[in-house]
Amino acid sequence: MNWASVSWWSSIALLLFSFVLIHELGHALAARNRGVQAEKIVLFPLGGGAYMPEQPKQLWSEVFVYAAGPLANILLAVIAWGILLLRPDGKLLVAFYLKLSGNLVVFPGILDQLLGLTLAVNLLLAFGNLLPAYPLDGGRILRALLRHPFGVRVSTVIVTVLGIIIGLGLAWAGWHLGDPLLVVGAGFIVMMSVMEYQNGWQRRRLAGKTLQDVLRMPQKLQPGVYTNNTVAETIRKFEETGWPVLPVFNQWNEQIGFVEAAVLQEEAVDLQAAVRPFCEVEFVSAGPDENLLAVIERIVDANVYGATITGGRGQLIGYVFTEDVMTLLDTPFRRMMRRWE
Ligand SMILES: [Zn+2]
Repeated sequence: MNWASVSWWSSIALLLFSFVLIHELGHALAARNRGVQAEKIVLFPLGGGAYMPEQPKQLWSEVFVYAAGPLANILLAVIAWGILLLRPDGKLLVAFYLKLSGNLVVFPGILDQLLGLTLAVNLLLAFGNLLPAYPLDGGRILRALLRHPFGVRVSTVIVTVLGIIIGLGLAWAGWHLGDPLLVVGAGFIVMMSVMEYQNGWQRRRLAGKTLQDVLRMPQKLQPGVYTNNTVAETIRKFEETGWPVLPVFNQWNEQIGFVEAAVLQEEAVDLQAAVRPFCEVEFVSAGPDENLLAVIERIVDANVYGATITGGRGQLIGYVFTEDVMTLLDTPFRRMMRRWE
């Protein structure tokens, strides 16, 4: 390594990052064009992502937003192609960088090398991302197209299974080509597909359940946890009720949040300390007729332990805890996964 090669490779790295950034900008601008918020773009070593809190509603808007990333790369490749063709020995250079012929009889200058790299890498980014595998753009486009004839469930199963198969194939290819980056990227595709498959499976299981299946009714004379209680007092209240989560009240008997037994066990060292820092001072409230899946989604979005279910006149009906929902979803696979967390 010398400084000349260090600066050359760091310029290359910067260039590759800019291609990923242009890809993500393609998604983000297309989303804005379709009236969907695109909040931020995050770049990480193996790629990037444009964060969109919601998806476009119409089918063709959705396809357009997902296709816009690869299209931005194709546009860049076409520009590099055009400029390269205008260079001396342009046709030879294009053929070389597209690997149509393996040997090059001319020596490319720096500009030609950069143009060739821009051409090859952007085509790779475009067509690599168009593979019909979740979570790649191609998989998302395919899912959007399949959703109308087959529904959310079947289309998700198809693209995630394709993601697992294509991901394993790419990992195998990367292993044989001695390309660790391809193996890691392929592993990421498999992992994301397995997670999305599981996610779909959980949503299906929950869709068949109601709030009543996980509702915990307040018991008579139930000991409430108050913000001025100590850790020891709170642990005693957990033992008395046997509940995994308890509501926390302020001095005016208004609920302010929840406290989880597992959190106290793991984090509380001093039993005489106040329980307040271990409480989550936020909770979701829901009506008794709400859809369980919708309530769970609100709990997950708010990142809290549970929801308080109240009736039309504000009277307390009971609680729904994520702990209980997890038990409802429990399978041997999930239990195994939790051991890894
Ligand atoms: Zn993309």
